[in-house]
Amino acid sequence: MNVTVNVLGTEYDVKEVTQDLLPDGADGYCDLSEHVCAVDGYAEDKAKTPAQRLKESILSDLDVQIKKNKRHEIVHAFLNESGLWENSWARNEEMVDWIAIQGPKIYRAWEAAGAL
Ligand SMILES: [Zn+2]
Repeated sequence: MNVTVNVLGTEYDVKEVTQDLLPDGADGYCDLSEHVCAVDGYAEDKAKTPAQRLKESILSDLDVQIKKNKRHEIVHAFLNESGLWENSWARNEEMVDWIAIQGPKIYRAWEAAGAL
């Protein structure tokens, strides 16, 4: 699914692409020059059965991974648009991934607490 999201006033296209359009070994990228967040749609892996995917250490439900990867790249977009790109702690992939993984849980806690 391809959508456009507003990142601090800049429109970013968020899209699923095939592996050949990604940097080697990457599951996605955030292109700050063209305002694109692209993630692997895992078309080849989706053709396999869940059992085959587990044997190959791939998540059986690839939509979980795709959603996490989209959140990861969107976090990069937010950091970029806020001026935190080069020479910054914001390039730390572990931190970006932590936000991508924990973000939905933090959002739900804020929502439950009436903090939004
Ligand atoms: Zn990253």
